[in-house]
Amino acid sequence: MVNSTSYDVIIIGSGLGGLECGTILSRHGLKVLVLERQIQPGGCMQSYKRKDCVFDTGLHYVGGLGKGQTLYPVFKYLGLLDLPWTHLDEDAFDTITIAGETFSFAEGYERFAEKMSERFPAEKEALFEYVDMLRRADEVQLLALTEDVPPESSLTDKLFSTNAYDWLHEKFHDELLINVLSGTSLKMELKKDTLPLFTFSHGNSGFIQSSWRLDGDGNMLVQKLVDEIKKYGGEVLCNTEVIELVEKEGRIVTALCANGKQYSAETFICNTHPVVTCSLVKESTMMRGIYKKRITRLQNTFGMFTCSLKIKNGSIPNFNHNKFVYEKANVWELSEEDHEGMGILITNPKENSLDILTPMLWSECQQWENTTVGHRGEDYRAMKAAKAERCVALAETVIPGLRDAIEEIYTSTPLTYRDYNLTPEGSAYGIRKDCTAPMMTILTPRTPIPNLLMTGQNLMLHGLHGVTMTTLFTCAEILGREPIRKIINNVE
Ligand SMILES: Cc1cc2nc3c(=O)[nH]c(=O)nc-3n(C[C@H](O)[C@H](O)[C@H](O)COP(=O)(O)OP(=O)(O)OC[C@H]3O[C@@H](n4cnc5c(N)ncnc54)[C@H](O)[C@@H]3O)c2cc1C
Repeated sequence: MVNSTSYDVIIIGSGLGGLECGTILSRHGLKVLVLERQIQPGGCMQSYKRKDCVFDTGLHYVGGLGKGQTLYPVFKYLGLLDLPWTHLDEDAFDTITIAGETFSFAEGYERFAEKMSERFPAEKEALFEYVDMLRRADEVQLLALTEDVPPESSLTDKLFSTNAYDWLHEKFHDELLINVLSGTSLKMELKKDTLPLFTFSHGNSGFIQSSWRLDGDGNMLVQKLVDEIKKYGGEVLCNTEVIELVEKEGRIVTALCANGKQYSAETFICNTHPVVTCSLVKESTMMRGIYKKRITRLQNTFGMFTCSLKIKNGSIPNFNHNKFVYEKANVWELSEEDHEGMGILITNPKENSLDILTPMLWSECQQWENTTVGHRGEDYRAMKAAKAERCVALAETVIPGLRDAIEEIYTSTPLTYRDYNLTPEGSAYGIRKDCTAPMMTILTPRTPIPNLLMTGQNLMLHGLHGVTMTTLFTCAEILGREPIRKIINNVE
């Protein structure tokens, strides 16, 4: 059935990128419709409830929300600064425990370098150069958005094409320090041969500016964006999976949904994984097989195994930071097939709940790839129980008594993310960026079809910070750069 309303923009997927695009575009007077396959919006931003306890999936903390910092003007514009954000500890927003020693990350570029050099005095100069690189990397991102001609500097080239691992080894002599600086990097995938310095710096820079957690669950953020879209005349429809984007005369004209409904618009934005986007365009004169092949061949970052713990009231001391804990000192080995040892992220606790996250490669869950949620069998349950046990044992080394404090434990694997979000291989952070092939792995919002754009973590950067930057690039394709400049410069 064809819906008689014609929209200016239809967005497929209500992940952070989709909802942010929806908010910005509807605030600029465009008639927006967001179509989401799941029963609730938010994608990775969703939270879920088990026995009165609310758990987050992909929102634990966010960086750069302080006044004058990178995300501040955009979150202000989106209405997200109205939410109850709590500042993590300034002297230790993250702690890294490697080989039995715990290191703290302090907030502020200079303070970070100063405090870290108390433990690594011989590396003081290099540490200040490191934070200077992080600061300039952030500026490059914003300049690329606000300048008509992207900044041509040696730094820009370097950020995309330099290998983070090599850069760190050229700059620092102390292997332990390199591991510590890379130690919050369960937030990305540390690949020695391919991780661009740009991705590495982005995963650290905003958090060092300042780190925040939401006093409440991720659904608050999702609901705020949905409310903003509706306030400006837009619509968000859940339970509406798009199964085809129909092309006519070189343009997408309708989104055909699994429930038989069809929606038409001037412009379409896919917040889905680019492989899913390609599969939605079944017949096209513009999107050739070679483009689809190129996109399908791109590799994905690892997925995450999550243990969500319901904790007995008051049974562990509260803490206002995230703890990264490693069994082995070399954190750069964790994403390798033959890795030994485990690395976990224990997120700052919320009301009687905390999450433990650890990378999980697709090969570890591939034997269940043909199963669906709730029907994966006893061996899958046993695998999850064993992995959860290992996570808890490692977490207990920094939170004594944790095991006895656990009331319930819920686990998820990359298969869970694949089946809910349609993310290939349940990848946590989307397409793997490769410093040896930056032009191939960093995607622009444009596709070969002029009125089909993309947004979300797969394009350029992941995380709340990264997706928000990507959103601005996507919206600039429709609105032009001036409105985006205004948002960044906080003129509105
Ligand atoms: C375990 C984990 C922890 C994380 N923790 C943090 C953190 O603490 N801080 C941080 O900054 N970042 C974190 N991240 C990363 C962050 O959550 C993601 O980068 C971000 O949420 C991705 O948003 P997105 O817009 O790219 O899309 P997604 O969240 O992937 O959303 C895509 C949406 O599209 C929908 N969709 C797909 N196909 C269709 C279709 N055919 N029709 C309709 N809808 C469709 C999906 O259902 C989904 O809702 C974490 C990620 C994970 C996995």
